[in-house]
Amino acid sequence: MKHRVAIVGAGVSGLTCGVVFAECGHRTAIVAKEIGQQTTSGAAAALWFPYDVEPANKVIPWALETFRTLINLARNSDSGVSMIELRQFSRTEEIQIPDWAIPLGAHPVIPSPSTSLRAGSVENGAAGEAATWRGRPEAERTGNERIKSPLFKTGFSLRVPLMDTTNYLDYLAHRFLQADGQITENVHFEKLEQVDPKFDLVINCAGIGARELVHDADLEPHSGQVAIVPRIKDLPYAVVCDDAPLMYAIPRRNDCVFGGTNEVSEDLAVDSATTTRIVAECSRTLKIEKPNVLAERVGLRPFRKSGVRVQRAQLRDGRTVVHNYGHGGAGFTLSWGCAAEVLQLGTVSG
Ligand SMILES: Cc1cc2nc3c(=O)[nH]c(=O)nc-3n(C[C@H](O)[C@H](O)[C@H](O)COP(=O)(O)OP(=O)(O)OC[C@H]3O[C@@H](n4cnc5c(N)ncnc54)[C@H](O)[C@@H]3O)c2cc1C
Repeated sequence: MKHRVAIVGAGVSGLTCGVVFAECGHRTAIVAKEIGQQTTSGAAAALWFPYDVEPANKVIPWALETFRTLINLARNSDSGVSMIELRQFSRTEEIQIPDWAIPLGAHPVIPSPSTSLRAGSVENGAAGEAATWRGRPEAERTGNERIKSPLFKTGFSLRVPLMDTTNYLDYLAHRFLQADGQITENVHFEKLEQVDPKFDLVINCAGIGARELVHDADLEPHSGQVAIVPRIKDLPYAVVCDDAPLMYAIPRRNDCVFGGTNEVSEDLAVDSATTTRIVAECSRTLKIEKPNVLAERVGLRPFRKSGVRVQRAQLRDGRTVVHNYGHGGAGFTLSWGCAAEVLQLGTVSG
């Protein structure tokens, strides 16, 4: 049976569900207050990695299913998805390679004080020019050598998908429209029953907005701030360190995302002192001159204390709703796995 489906939310969760439903032949509309770049999803670094999300027994299968889909998308250069080496470090602890990462090829990288993470001098001119991570042996620049940094104690390396949000969200929207989907923005719902009754199936992808929309007190905004800086030439991999201060440098095709922060807060205002701190820490780690800041973004990770909610329920007017929110710091990482489960829950009869 084909449904008339309304999806509330046009971040990565809503857009991915839109593609999945529309490509299965359901008459699907996305209705949202904001779309794409203006959403939390538009602020994300968007590297594939299960971070700040619960519970592991559900998250890892969703993440692995998403991984497989993203590998295929990375073959299409228009998608904004590419594969990148992620180097995850700890400054203080023996980092454990997660069990799920081993079949994906994760292996230790051994920091040592003998050489550093950096390159040498940096070309760092006007806005838009790139800092250059140069002066290092070719093997190190191309990532063929073990990373050696006195800043970190232990680390591991893994090739993962990276979604460049400047392309990827548009790619999803375009693919949805190609499959006869419709998108309407600037619509704010107080409750899901306000969705036009012509839709028999409602999908709730409201991110942190679900806190008010369905009165879910379990949702907690985990605010994150990033600074977008010019591309750092020859930085061949993403560098992430989760222990305080949270630090990541994620090179994209045309720029680089420096992060970050993670605190319980719903303040969406950019804090310039935080940007200064992020840029200083990333530059110190990469041993480059401080680059110019092209943009700053703050987003609220929709962390849900009792775990991601992918669940079928009923609205007060009797229609079926499938909830799909609470993805914390991993909405991109779980997107295709969750969307597949939402499709299954929404289209199962009874
Ligand atoms: C700094 C930062 C870095 C991140 N890095 C990563 C990363 O590397 N990898 C990763 O996987 N994840 C990352 N995340 C997490 C990721 O961004 C989120 O998990 C993801 O964006 C959630 O997507 P969503 O579509 O569920 O919600 P959102 O993107 O917030 O979209 C919600 C949608 O619902 C709409 N909406 C809400 N309420 C209503 C309402 N009442 N009426 C109508 N419309 C409504 C909004 O307008 C919007 O369209 C990061 C987040 C931040 C902030």
